Amino acid sequence: MNSTDFRKMGKEMVDYIADYLDKIEERPVFPEVEPGYLRSLIPDSAPAETQEIEDVMNDVERVIMPGVTHWHSPYFFAYFPTASSYPSFLADMLSDAIGCIGFSWAASPACTELETVMLDWLGNMINLPEQFLARNGEGGGVIQGSASEATLMALLAARMKKIKCLQSENPELTEASILSKLVAYSSDQAHSSVERAGLIGAVKMKTIPSDNRFSVGGEALKQALEEDKAAGLIPFFFCATLGTTPSCAFDRLLELGPICNEENIWLHIDAAYAGSAFICPEFRHLLNGVEFADSFNFNPHKWLLVVFDCSTMWVKNRSDLIGAFKMDPLYLQHDHQESGIITDYRHWQIPLGRRFRSLKMWFVFRMYGVKRLQEYIRKHVQLAHEFEELVHQDERFEISAEVIMGLVCFRLKGSNRLNEALLKNINDARKIHLVPCHLGDTFVLRFAICSRMVESRHIQYAWDHITKTAAKLLRQEGLQRQSASGQVAAAH
Ligand SMILES: *Cc1c(COP(=O)(O)O)cnc(C)c1O
Repeated sequence: MNSTDFRKMGKEMVDYIADYLDKIEERPVFPEVEPGYLRSLIPDSAPAETQEIEDVMNDVERVIMPGVTHWHSPYFFAYFPTASSYPSFLADMLSDAIGCIGFSWAASPACTELETVMLDWLGNMINLPEQFLARNGEGGGVIQGSASEATLMALLAARMKKIKCLQSENPELTEASILSKLVAYSSDQAHSSVERAGLIGAVKMKTIPSDNRFSVGGEALKQALEEDKAAGLIPFFFCATLGTTPSCAFDRLLELGPICNEENIWLHIDAAYAGSAFICPEFRHLLNGVEFADSFNFNPHKWLLVVFDCSTMWVKNRSDLIGAFKMDPLYLQHDHQESGIITDYRHWQIPLGRRFRSLKMWFVFRMYGVKRLQEYIRKHVQLAHEFEELVHQDERFEISAEVIMGLVCFRLKGSNRLNEALLKNINDARKIHLVPCHLGDTFVLRFAICSRMVESRHIQYAWDHITKTAAKLLRQEGLQRQSASGQVAAAH
């Protein structure tokens, strides 16, 4: 394939993509395939000779599309959103073509410098305190691949910082003896990746019980700290969540922050989904208390129209990250690295290699503009409230958690078993797609506003499907109860 072929096929691919997204609602949102479906549809090994793009594209429809869950369908209401936008696609094409590996400034100066400035732009958009911005000196931002990586980096940096600090006070302490006493905390509503960071980081990880609104406050943390310190443990890390995955609850930063600062506990904030909403002034108050944090992270690849992967992380003191795991082999060194002006992002992350991901932030921010991005967030929140209102109006259903952003947790009044059956019947029809969660012991359906193309009519359609499915289920349950009580009456 040469550049002439690429010009032609590239344009055809653009048409294919535009058609795919224009007509995505005609496809069933969830695929009807069995595990292992794909292997029998393609040969056992790669072809020895070249094949034509037409044949490959035909197989995309034959082999791939039947097994795709269409995350950008307006009937997709599962998990949390993942971003899709044309400016972001375009930027990623360019990033692929430049194809640099920007591990150091010298490895591709534009890749590093645009990232630093984009993290300042975005920090500004959400009114992050100046200490987190690179233009200010000590702090700065980095693009990680995912929120999970950001949490892990924060935990590992916090671990190293605590070990170094204790060893400087007591040089006889070994790393192993400190490690065995370190303990990290998060809410019992935190994402599983937080617990996993503790597993990978080989430290104890404890959950703090959330309150009846699913958020953690200062008292609960204090209690755990007192108990653990009395038992000889060393608290070093707390991961607060803004916008929990089950119900989009917010931990109370203004209570938690001062405690962490006082106890020398690294405060990391995971706002993976909800963070994007802080570009709207009316939601920014939910970030109050970020000034107490050591690190803060959210995913523009969830809700800010920048395609995966783009998880933005800021630290107040970049030397905490850089100093934690510095390696400097000769082949990665360059003339400017000690100047202090520029950044070598390889020290900020686990892998060495990194793509030119800031291009897609730059394209999206410029081609949408902050106002359009704010409108996008507001539309999703408004559609969530529209769905919430529909649930409220139907007395068979109840809302299970306060609706703050684009997520509605709801259920049929009744048993978990009834709601499990409802969810199964809804998803089996493949007209819309939802996932559940547990809130306490309660099985709850999550309705997340996800697609860039979702409109009021899709919400209405989804609700119509849910209520019809529920009515049928309740009718069956009623008949079963009747026949069961009939049998009991007959037996008497
Ligand atoms: C989605 C989510 C994550 C995981 O995000 P990744 O970028 O896929 O690692 C972590 N925390 C919360 C609160 C989330 O909602």
